[in-house]
Amino acid sequence: MQSLKAKTVQAQRPFTAQRPRAVRGSVSVRAVAAPPRLITKRSEEIFKEAQELLPGGVNSPVRAFRSVGGGPIVFDRVKGAYCYDVDGNKYIDYVGSWGPAIVGHANDEVNEALKAQIEKGTSFGAPCELENVLAKMVIDRVPSVEMVRFVSSGTEACLSVLRLMRAYTGREKIIKFTGCYHGHADSFLVKAGSGVITLGLPDSPGVPKSTAAATLTATYNDLASVRELFAANKGEIAGLILEPVVGNSGFIVPTKEFLQGLRDICTAEGAVLCFDEVMTGFRIAKGCAQEYFGITPDLTTMGKVIGGGLPVGAYGGKKEIMKMVAPAGPMYQAGTLSGNPMAMTAGIKTLEILGRPGAYEYLEKITERLIDGIMAAAKEHGHEITGGNISGMFGFFFCKGPVSCFEDALAADTAKFARFHRAMLEEGVYLAPSQFEAGFTSLAHTDADVDATIAAARRAFARI
Ligand code: PMP
Repeated sequence: MQSLKAKTVQAQRPFTAQRPRAVRGSVSVRAVAAPPRLITKRSEEIFKEAQELLPGGVNSPVRAFRSVGGGPIVFDRVKGAYCYDVDGNKYIDYVGSWGPAIVGHANDEVNEALKAQIEKGTSFGAPCELENVLAKMVIDRVPSVEMVRFVSSGTEACLSVLRLMRAYTGREKIIKFTGCYHGHADSFLVKAGSGVITLGLPDSPGVPKSTAAATLTATYNDLASVRELFAANKGEIAGLILEPVVGNSGFIVPTKEFLQGLRDICTAEGAVLCFDEVMTGFRIAKGCAQEYFGITPDLTTMGKVIGGGLPVGAYGGKKEIMKMVAPAGPMYQAGTLSGNPMAMTAGIKTLEILGRPGAYEYLEKITERLIDGIMAAAKEHGHEITGGNISGMFGFFFCKGPVSCFEDALAADTAKFARFHRAMLEEGVYLAPSQFEAGFTSLAHTDADVDATIAAARRAFARI
């Protein structure tokens, strides 16, 4: 893993981690040496029924735990750094609803703001001042964003930005990287094997071949693969989209030279550079990954954190480009619930909390300690591991590394990850149920939570 880590500032801790109020039926995190018995009877019953009602028993595929095996844990409630399942088990949570819960689940301040807003209505379908407030916060923190459009999910943000890149340049092809996820729009469900690098092949039935063919796929951290695509498709590429730190093939860090190279190539070729910051936005730095690496994209997509746990996405960038969007310009995009007051309220309060001094330093400090501790525990027990973190985003692979692209990540021992994942559940730690997902911490995670997690990992590594 290439280590481009945040400076660890030993800041005074400004946060009081929210301790969950005593919740009936909860049990404390287990701390026994023998494999603890995890009782998941109610989870199993509910999931069994769900499989008759929902495709695969879920509303989003990874939740079904297929890549780690064993049944999924059915949640009852969440608070702070913890989640509680329907069988009364309590877990230290490192998924955080896949990223949004950065100030801790069900944060009291966010909840208070939402309660006040609910009295005023949950959806207006008309302009409201809260949209301006959140837009100003985003624009203040992310200098490349001069104008923003709110939507309701990361997928919607990415598919809208795709249309915008095409509308702005009058070109149709786009470049993405193997292993990067930008939501489930047709054009993004594409990867390319070697040999078909200029010929997109759909990853899912239902994606038209013609749509897939307009998506070209390059290798992360490999500028030569990008240059080849531009050379072979001269004047046809509308834009390039990437995760500025990958979270969707596990945690993979770019080199600064790679990001700078992409900036330079896009500028030279008249193509739009889009950072998909749905995951990294406001998570790895106050001004997102683009501030952290000092690279300015033309367009940015956001989601997760800016919705503070409610459904939100956004895209923004230079005014010159954003003024193409209807009704300012001809590129059509709309949404019944876009900018809805509940989501705006949760987003505003979440960004306000993240704006307090020391927030990102705290996330960096606890997350670095967590990943260093997990990796040391693995090595103590003879397991190959490589990993890292930037601020509150982390990950590790069960392989020697370094991992600098999706192709490298495929060397990871996924069967071992599955055993580790189950062992950690038994120990009261909830990790993302796939080797190819990043982990997330929050301001609610305490040093004690990190210590308990490392101790749990040590026991888990001893028996997998
Ligand atoms: N882009 C990135 C980088 C993501 O991580 C995700 C979701 N994990 C999306 C887009 C899609 O967002 P959503 O699930 O909100 O549609």
